[in-house]
Amino acid sequence: MIRLFDTATGEVRPLRQRREGEVSMYVCGPTVYGPPHLGHGRFALVFDVLRRYLMWCGTEVVYVSNITDVDDKIIDRAAREGTSPEEVARHWEDVWWGAMDRIGVLRPTADPHATAYIDDMVTLVGDLIERGAAYVLADGIYFDTSSVADYGLLARQDLESLQAGARVDVDDTKRSPTDFALWKLAKVGEPAWDSPWGPGRPGWHTECVVMSLDLLGPGFDLHGGGQDLAFPHHENERAQAVAGGETFAGHWMHNGFVEVAGEKMAKSLGNFTDLADLCDRHDPRAFRLLVLRSHYRSPVEVSDTSAADASRALERLDAFARRVGEITGAATVPDPATLDSFRALMDDDLDTPGVMDLVFTSVRRVNAMLDDGDRDAAAPLAAAVLEVCGAMGLDVHAAADGDVPAVMADLARRRDEARAARDFALADSLRDQIQAQGWVVEDTATGTAIRRS
Ligand SMILES: [Zn+2]
Repeated sequence: MIRLFDTATGEVRPLRQRREGEVSMYVCGPTVYGPPHLGHGRFALVFDVLRRYLMWCGTEVVYVSNITDVDDKIIDRAAREGTSPEEVARHWEDVWWGAMDRIGVLRPTADPHATAYIDDMVTLVGDLIERGAAYVLADGIYFDTSSVADYGLLARQDLESLQAGARVDVDDTKRSPTDFALWKLAKVGEPAWDSPWGPGRPGWHTECVVMSLDLLGPGFDLHGGGQDLAFPHHENERAQAVAGGETFAGHWMHNGFVEVAGEKMAKSLGNFTDLADLCDRHDPRAFRLLVLRSHYRSPVEVSDTSAADASRALERLDAFARRVGEITGAATVPDPATLDSFRALMDDDLDTPGVMDLVFTSVRRVNAMLDDGDRDAAAPLAAAVLEVCGAMGLDVHAAADGDVPAVMADLARRRDEARAARDFALADSLRDQIQAQGWVVEDTATGTAIRRS
């Protein structure tokens, strides 16, 4: 059974499953108002790796991840651009899914949108007021954090020390600095929905508790997100569930930050924290490899140097796949000992750095065996390497030498997408990028074909 660190208990413990053979998980998705950055990419990759591993083990995974499509930041951007919040949210959601596809993240089982759940949120807020866990102020409805006995569980602090550390705004009328808005009454011109307290919109923390319980039911198995969400976002979700008498997530999993290398580089590159930018500059698989090489609770450092290093490691894996292509096939049974080691590493709080060591050590062993002409010994181990890479979502290309490398194939795919969307300026610029790297671009019936010039 897989063991994972649980933020609520502060220890690594078995992931208890509500139903055998199934894991239900909710991962907080993006607020869609701008381009996804590396932090978004990391949480998406960490939970994608967990999901894929569970699936590889034969577990059915119900993976819910929301889209926050109503938020102050969306409203502000729409006002700045002279467009509507709906338009802003729609555009940046498209960009989000495009970026997720590029880094190979599987689409969620369900992707609930906040605006589709407003009625349920209004019901919850009304219920919390009735239970004495929420109160009405001039600008909205607030949750009373003192109504939950163990408030602060996910912050690993008690209410008193959280209150002492909280920032207090001058115009705050809340009873306590840790109290938070459940419902914000609308100002003129803001998007608004009817409620018994007047037109307004839900607070962010209310959205996730309502959608996770609706789609996964009480006591679902795992709730996850970046470590910056543990407090206050997840704590506030949990507090509403507790105050509403619901059993909430059984396990809380949070991933570490992304660190972008030295100040000098950040300054000279400006937008290096942009996920699409990283995929443009390097093999789009490189970020997954960097994420796998770090433990999910540790920071991962992303720089041009580390991404280039990861890209070279991927080239070695591709070369390996080509070399072993002849000796492995569907009939080759992967080496059981290697798969056992893989399982043991993953079950121990997702030791993906250990898994990557296992992969690259095995690659060297297979190469040595093949150098010695020992194909029979090499085949099962090679098949195990390919099996593990597949389970981690690392797409290894076994294409023959001279075939199109991943970066170029990605540019060609994006050119086809741009043409389909009739964005010919972008399509032309992508063609120029492909040609600049020494490739010939041809239009065929099946889309862009490229070959070395
Ligand atoms: Zn959330």
